[in-house]
Amino acid sequence: MDFSFGDADEQLRVRARAWLTDHLVGPYGRARGLGGPGSEHQGAAVRRDWERELGRGGWIGQGWEVPDGAYGQRRLSLTGQVVWAEEYAALRAPGRVGHIGENLLAPTLIAYGTPEQQGRHLPGIARGEELWCQGYSEPGAGSDLAGIRTAAVRDPADGRHRVTGQKIWTSLAHDADWCFVLARTEAGSRRHHGLSFLLVRMDQPGRIEVRPIRQMSGTAEFNEVFFDGAVAEESVGGEGNGWTVAMGLLALERGVSTLVQQIGFAAELERVVHAYAACGAPDPVLRERLVRQWAELRTMRWNALRTLGAAVEPGGADPGAADPGAPSVAKLLWGGWHRRLGELAVAVRGAAATAGPGPWAQGVPYEDGLDEEQRLFLFTRADTIYGGSDEIQRNIIAERVLGLPKEPR
Ligand SMILES: Cc1cc2nc3c(=O)[nH]c(=O)nc-3n(C[C@H](O)[C@H](O)[C@H](O)COP(=O)(O)OP(=O)(O)OC[C@H]3O[C@@H](n4cnc5c(N)ncnc54)[C@H](O)[C@@H]3O)c2cc1C
Repeated sequence: MDFSFGDADEQLRVRARAWLTDHLVGPYGRARGLGGPGSEHQGAAVRRDWERELGRGGWIGQGWEVPDGAYGQRRLSLTGQVVWAEEYAALRAPGRVGHIGENLLAPTLIAYGTPEQQGRHLPGIARGEELWCQGYSEPGAGSDLAGIRTAAVRDPADGRHRVTGQKIWTSLAHDADWCFVLARTEAGSRRHHGLSFLLVRMDQPGRIEVRPIRQMSGTAEFNEVFFDGAVAEESVGGEGNGWTVAMGLLALERGVSTLVQQIGFAAELERVVHAYAACGAPDPVLRERLVRQWAELRTMRWNALRTLGAAVEPGGADPGAADPGAPSVAKLLWGGWHRRLGELAVAVRGAAATAGPGPWAQGVPYEDGLDEEQRLFLFTRADTIYGGSDEIQRNIIAERVLGLPKEPR
């Protein structure tokens, strides 16, 4: 494997840092550090504008498998994408609001969509103007996604589907312009048969209702979404092929992003270490846990580099292809690690963590009185659930890697 930063990457690093420094000024400068999982409520409007700024700079869609500049975007190598993410994190640029469109929908359209569909949606995503949400989970269909009941019927008058049903836990649906919806288009079909991957415009008053779900962290970044005869503009990958498209997209979701994510994790760990040091009361057990946390982050980094290294080798385009368990191992590692970091974030403050924001809370005032560490603790309870729960990852490893018998249904 060879995953090292070459001259071109270092030149890119200089350009990326210069661009970010030039553009992170005014309202964008004040939005530094805002947003991201658990904090999506922070600076939502300015972060939407920032998305357009990134689009004007050509920084959205760096990993898309299309020629450089096809949609005004720069095509970067994997190492180049990591360099960009490192600089982005180092300068604490605002949390992205367009990542679902950029990293999930766009690559799916490139893999399964028609040229017309790509032409309709990729330019808007690359400009940071078209925001997306993911309509998969339903009450009763989360881990067992094939149990979805949302139905869509084709209207012979215009050939478009009308969608009726309920989705749940739909992140950022309240800000999204579009939703990709997995729906049952073949009446009476079961499990993964008869599903279609539909593109639905969110602005359909009376036909789509978005109800925020307030979490124990005090924020409401995901929603229930109710469809009542909502019009789907088009289906991707052909009617009835929704399962193939949906699974292709999930493979992307667990792809190269882990290494980038670890940059944010390292910053959070540093904050927790700082909070521990500021407490001034050394505790050998907490020290031990902090060191373990640091060492595990290094291990995750090497694991991610190993997987990405295999991907950048000639002929190794798919990080999961060489090792079918790799995406599940990565998810298991980071989900548990991040949840334990959340526990440490409050443990280092002892009982004071339950009594209001810490004295070292940096910069951002919270309307509900939680500081960053408290919110980290509360939000990271979700990390072992979304993107495929720990139990499901272990099932995948058991069956696809260890060859154990399938679990009984
Ligand atoms: C922060 C967050 C954001 C999310 N964003 C989105 C989004 O944007 N769009 C979207 O569609 N969904 C989203 N989800 C939903 C997420 O995909 C589901 O929560 C997840 O798939 C689990 O489904 P569930 O909540 O229905 O739990 P269930 O599937 O009901 O699982 C409940 C428990 O049972 C365990 N379990 C289930 N089946 C098995 C099994 N076969 N063997 C062993 N244990 C099992 C699970 O591991 C879990 O512990 C989000 C969730 C979270 C927490």
